[in-house]
Amino acid sequence: MRPAGQRIARVRVRRRVGTIGSLVAMSSQGHFSAGALRGAGRGVVDHRLARRHLVNEFRRGRLRQDQICDAHPELIRAARNLGTESRATCPICEAAKLRLVTYVFGSRLPAHGRCVSTAKEMAALNARSDDLTAYVVEACVECRWHHLLRVLPVGGTRARRTG
Ligand SMILES: [Zn+2]
Repeated sequence: MRPAGQRIARVRVRRRVGTIGSLVAMSSQGHFSAGALRGAGRGVVDHRLARRHLVNEFRRGRLRQDQICDAHPELIRAARNLGTESRATCPICEAAKLRLVTYVFGSRLPAHGRCVSTAKEMAALNARSDDLTAYVVEACVECRWHHLLRVLPVGGTRARRTG
């Protein structure tokens, strides 16, 4: 059984899958688990809501910057070298545009996920028959803020159905 939150997330993002290639950012070799991605915790239903809550808590002084700007060095490296620039400015330091990095998890993929670097690679994963999950993460290379932006189903029965 998948956690309820993840099921809901899959429903929410399903319509976006057709454009998944354009959502892809990436890096060559990420080395951390999905659990290291802020926002990926159990019970998180709406990642945008969780993000807004966290930013508000920071602005109210209830969270220190060092408590929330703690991205894994591999994530920052991936964001800097191979990430795609987002239109959004970092909500914490406001000194840089956020960068997007995508990791795919699932059977026959590394336990730490595969950091997808091209739309072609993502299309190949999406053509697979097994259910995979892509995590799109936003990260700031200036202050190391990071947050899970989207969770997208990749491959699986949906891919077979839509051809
Ligand atoms: Zn920042």
